[in-house]
Amino acid sequence: MSMENLYRTMIMEHSKYPKNKGLVSDDAYRTYHLKNPSCGDDITIQVHCIEDRIVDVRHEGKGCAICCSSASMMSEVIKGQTRSAAVDIAKEFYELVTGTIEESPVLQDANALAGVSKFPARVKCATIAWKAMEHALEEETNE
Ligand code: ZN
Repeated sequence: MSMENLYRTMIMEHSKYPKNKGLVSDDAYRTYHLKNPSCGDDITIQVHCIEDRIVDVRHEGKGCAICCSSASMMSEVIKGQTRSAAVDIAKEFYELVTGTIEESPVLQDANALAGVSKFPARVKCATIAWKAMEHALEEETNE
């Protein structure tokens, strides 16, 4: 299987069978909602931190395969990280989808979205869940 096909398969798998999908009604979670009007992506991210550690990440929403798979991949990569590590990992993801870097071991399955860098209009689809996650973290920091 070529790298491109492998990546396409991973994107479809995460889109069809997303990890950590579904919101919880628990005040311990911080929530942030973002929309991408150009594509119809509409996503809500929840993070639960205990002290500096992100112990859970949830996501819910509608969107294209890139948006939905990215949310699932992000939730897997970010869960268990410290907040500052999560921000650093998000930065690497933005570099990946804009073509600054080709891959990064910390991004795990999210490396499958590297091809998005060839389609600048889709970068927003890939990053929306990550941006919402960062906002959700900030919400808690401000408390
Ligand atoms: Zn999209």
